[in-house]
Amino acid sequence: MLIAHLREELDRLAAEGLQRRRRVVQTPCGPEQRLSGQQQPLLSFCSNDYLGLAQHPALIQALAEGAARWGVGAGASHLVSGHMQVHEDVETAFARWQQAHIPEAQALLFGSGFMANMALMTALGGSDATIFADKLNHASLIDGGLLAQAEMRRYPHGQLEQLERLLQRCTTPIRLIVTDAVFSMDGDVADLPGLLRLAEAYDAWLVIDDAHGLGVLGTQGHGSLEHFGLHSERLIWMGTLGKAMGVAGAVVVAHATIIDWLVQRARPYIYTTGMPPALAHVLLASMALVESEEGAARRAHLQAMIGRLREGLWALLFGHAHWSLPESSTAIQPLIVGSNEEALHLSAALERQGLWVPAIRPPTVPAGTARLRFTLSAAHTGEQLDRLLATLARMEGVA
Ligand SMILES: *Cc1c(COP(=O)(O)O)cnc(C)c1O
Repeated sequence: MLIAHLREELDRLAAEGLQRRRRVVQTPCGPEQRLSGQQQPLLSFCSNDYLGLAQHPALIQALAEGAARWGVGAGASHLVSGHMQVHEDVETAFARWQQAHIPEAQALLFGSGFMANMALMTALGGSDATIFADKLNHASLIDGGLLAQAEMRRYPHGQLEQLERLLQRCTTPIRLIVTDAVFSMDGDVADLPGLLRLAEAYDAWLVIDDAHGLGVLGTQGHGSLEHFGLHSERLIWMGTLGKAMGVAGAVVVAHATIIDWLVQRARPYIYTTGMPPALAHVLLASMALVESEEGAARRAHLQAMIGRLREGLWALLFGHAHWSLPESSTAIQPLIVGSNEEALHLSAALERQGLWVPAIRPPTVPAGTARLRFTLSAAHTGEQLDRLLATLARMEGVA
């Protein structure tokens, strides 16, 4: 019965062009990735390894050193016996990165960004709270909000006037404004200064998911708070560690009292095994790299690659009136084509030419806005971008 029901639903997904599949990769994360059963590697524009650190020799060496010093697993949750000095050191270092922006900043490590968002939403969003969420926020913030006792109000993407109207009508004592800093499917940057002004005007807190900003934004790569030069006790910041940082996990930085509350009450923090200490050791090396001259050079190269891709994509739009290239200054560059079929068709055609560009479809993005989503990395070269653009230019008439 269950199997038959699921089979029917799966067939329906396939008929609508919404079926997802996993590809088995035979190579480490990088611009060239070879799939099972293929001879040649694909030139990949899929990963969130924005600085190209996932296979950096210094991090590979740090992982070996970390495992030798700390072993592999933490063996228990952080509140039992799984919280080691190396976790403390990473938390201290992340608190220092944000201390110019958040007074009395403290940090807390999580196993993943998904869990960190679950923790923030459920532990802070009690029945005395209202959560105000941008409609394009990441799935983990939405699901965390649904799981929280708080009422959730979603406002249209980036519409601060509408958010303000919701805040004016709110009667709960706790108000949480929740936003991605860089939106993961569009690449645009939230108006964090505007959101913080609203938080201050309406006695609310601003929860920022900096999954795509940490490591990339800010002169030192400290993320969106550094980028905008924000400073407030009302900032609650979350960064994920598996994207530009090249490792895995997540970190929340906020006022010490908020962090203490999370330690006492956040179930996705309390009831799960601590981050492998070997990975915490790698994170120290990754943080050092991000802040170094090499990190700054990688950010500068990434910025150059973004400019080159956008210029090339703009030129392509002339031949495809129904395609659009939304405003994005980040490593996430969507090319909106509209229908699921066209997005899938283009992605498959590019793959036959040796390029790996994912087609993003509903429900990840709104219906009718299926897209190719290019993500760039500091590991890409100008020649690789030129190859992508030349191949796209030959795609004329595929719709
Ligand atoms: C990737 C991502 C997450 C989840 O982080 P993981 O560490 O991969 O679980 C959360 N929020 C946003 C905006 C993301 O892009």
